[in-house]
Amino acid sequence: MSIYIEQIEQLVVLQKVDSEMITLERVLEDAPKQLRSLQEKQAYLKQQQGVIQEKVDVLLEQKGRIESEIENDTQKVKKSKNKLMMVENTKEYHAMMREMDNMEKQNRTREEERANLVADLSDLEGRKETLQKDIDALGETIAAQQSTLDQELAEKRTRLEVLDKEKKKASEAVPAPILTRYNFIRSRIPNPVIVPVSEGVCKGCNIVIPPQAFIDLQKGEQILSCPNCLRIIFWERHFAETD
Ligand SMILES: [Zn+2]
Repeated sequence: MSIYIEQIEQLVVLQKVDSEMITLERVLEDAPKQLRSLQEKQAYLKQQQGVIQEKVDVLLEQKGRIESEIENDTQKVKKSKNKLMMVENTKEYHAMMREMDNMEKQNRTREEERANLVADLSDLEGRKETLQKDIDALGETIAAQQSTLDQELAEKRTRLEVLDKEKKKASEAVPAPILTRYNFIRSRIPNPVIVPVSEGVCKGCNIVIPPQAFIDLQKGEQILSCPNCLRIIFWERHFAETD
């Protein structure tokens, strides 16, 4: 095997390890984000529920006040009715009748108010219940995701450690100047940085490389870069199987 082919092979190995590491690192970074967004959503729903509870508290207080007013006036009307029997003065009788009438009218208004409050309260309770169901469902999803995530992340970290060792080994096999070039390109260009050329097309940027560069590449004498995307290129036919 020529030195050139050997070096390209080493770079391809390095590229494979790096690709897997990059994918794993992205998962490690993104996976907790999903969980966090679910937790934020749940916190928001809980906050919404708190807002509704505050309204419920206000309405319950109003309802309590109205009910005690109704009760008070009902008692007063009852007492007045008892007194009415003993009133002999017509004027006083009419005055009492009017007062009772007023209290009963007010109580009817209060009953209407109370009925509205009860309807509003039942509406709010319904919304609270719906929110509670969503909160519970999210809670289950979060708990399930948390436990799989912990396990998944632990596995990925272990795999990363293995890859890190493989990367060191693969890096050691690559001559220093080529490794420097590889790392330089890696720091500037999105993965992958070692790409095959197939039918004269760079698989990194999908652009046809100039004919002379393609002829040079096929000679397999020196490590070349794609003139367009600057990735290190190799001719796919130099490797019957790259896997
Ligand atoms: Zn290219």
